[in-house]
Amino acid sequence: MPEHHPVASHFTLNWQQQLSDAFTSIEDLCRYLGLNTDDLPISKAASKQFAMRVPLSFAASMEKGNPDDPLLRQVLPIEDELIDYADFNLDPVGDIKAAVQPGLLHKYYGRVLLINTGSCAINCRYCFRRNFPYTELQLGKQQESGAIEYIKSDLTISEVILSGGDPLLLSDSRLAQLIQRLEAINHIKRIRIHSRLPIVLPARVTEGLVNTLVRCRKQIVLVVHANHANEINERVKAGFNRLKNKGITLLNQSVLLKGVNDDVSTLCELSEQLFANGVIPYYLHLLDKATGTGHFEVSETKAISLMEETQNHLPGYLVPKLVKEVTGMRSKQTL
Ligand SMILES: *Cc1c(COP(=O)(O)O)cnc(C)c1O
Repeated sequence: MPEHHPVASHFTLNWQQQLSDAFTSIEDLCRYLGLNTDDLPISKAASKQFAMRVPLSFAASMEKGNPDDPLLRQVLPIEDELIDYADFNLDPVGDIKAAVQPGLLHKYYGRVLLINTGSCAINCRYCFRRNFPYTELQLGKQQESGAIEYIKSDLTISEVILSGGDPLLLSDSRLAQLIQRLEAINHIKRIRIHSRLPIVLPARVTEGLVNTLVRCRKQIVLVVHANHANEINERVKAGFNRLKNKGITLLNQSVLLKGVNDDVSTLCELSEQLFANGVIPYYLHLLDKATGTGHFEVSETKAISLMEETQNHLPGYLVPKLVKEVTGMRSKQTL
């Protein structure tokens, strides 16, 4: 982040400016957090493989001076990423096989997934698409018509999921155009948007965006991605409010991550915070085994016992479904 932007005025910038001001240097982020890089297992090699990128809105929710902060752990490139774990690979969920066209994944009955952009506002170190060949497989403007034709020609498809990267990095006009093309297809009932931006760059939730979603003739479902209650700061809450006030359905998916949210009280607090702000916990994913992410893995046995415990503490509707993605299966697998 450039030194000349004091934190308070940063949040008056528009979302594109906030995005271009994101931390991309480990030193800058550590300085902002009052941490000494020498005391941390940071790795330049890891950040060369997968660049660091952290918007200030997210970094501002980290605890200053805490090297083990659960938000910091999600984004700091560390030496552990270079460890070669057995079973971890470059395409852990079979995305490449499921691509029926560039940027169009048709894996599950009734739903297709569009990879509209490879970019994201934040580079989460556990990302299952951190090694995804986006340049070949993202849905550029040119491939869009092909994707629309595919969806039109298959009457079993009732839901289109916009994914990425992060689909909310598309400009308002590109997004509005895409939604218009999709809502013109009769057999489409819902358009689902999977985005972490309402969490990490809540300035993206502009009135313009909300209006685009509200105007859509199909039902819109927005699935956000938060892993820890500390991510739900005042700016995030305000964004949720703008969406909720217009009746947008909000769900959350999380990933179970070692050292971030792998304990019962953290999981309970996350569900409580989400629901208090109008978001229903949907999925808790087991880690997808992407190369570079092995140090985040929580065993299936531990995951199941954590969920049993969590279920003892929360009403049923606040317990997300524990799922994993198994290559070749026709749906996510509930554990
Ligand atoms: C997770 C996923 C979906 C959506 O699955 P739901 O269980 O409906 O949330 C669709 N397509 C792909 C490729 C997915 O990975």
